[in-house]
Amino acid sequence: MPVSDLAATGVEEFATPDGLEVLDQLCLTLLECLLITGDVQREVGLNLDELISGLGAIQHTARSAFRAASLLNQRAEMEAAWGDYLSRPKAVFARHHAAVRSGARKVRPREPAAALFDAVIDTAVPIDDGADLKASKPSCTSTTKVGRAYGNSTVYLGSGEFAQHCYSHLTTVERRRFESHRREAAALEDHLLEERAEQIARAAGLVRLEWQRKRQTDQAWLDTHTAWQH
Ligand SMILES: [Zn+2]
Repeated sequence: MPVSDLAATGVEEFATPDGLEVLDQLCLTLLECLLITGDVQREVGLNLDELISGLGAIQHTARSAFRAASLLNQRAEMEAAWGDYLSRPKAVFARHHAAVRSGARKVRPREPAAALFDAVIDTAVPIDDGADLKASKPSCTSTTKVGRAYGNSTVYLGSGEFAQHCYSHLTTVERRRFESHRREAAALEDHLLEERAEQIARAAGLVRLEWQRKRQTDQAWLDTHTAWQH
């Protein structure tokens, strides 16, 4: 019986542990593809932006399928399907949300193992720009000729400190401190971005070794060695 007819026959929606594991591996392989594509640009003089964005989109879709399958695997309660066919991942999430709204227990979808790498990719670069101190941001103490305060916000000098003045009224000392803070912040950002690039390059290097090893040994289903002999 074709899989698409299963739902129509009233067979319970399901995802086996093995199925989930293979989907997890699919997500990991797509991450490997992305890492390799970024890395191979050092050796192949092509603009691979299209390939990278396509892989990024398909990676997103694959992770969504894994999460939806993990809900099926955990037997999350769902509202009845809208049609007789298998649900798309999006519909699984929506149907589970609907069931939760009617009182079902909320089940958290599992994250694929590849998502562990997000921590490396998405490292937020913490920048000391005083943005979280805005509430206490004082106004410039310089006054207009008529004695009215300008009301311009003062310049942030780093480490939680503000100057007494706005940018155009900075004293020489304040200006020096401001420039030095700006240089330090830029250097820190560069350093963190560099660190992230190194981590990505390291991961790509390991994936590459793995792929090269597979290329030598792995001929279980396709004889890749003869492909280049024609
Ligand atoms: Zn001012």
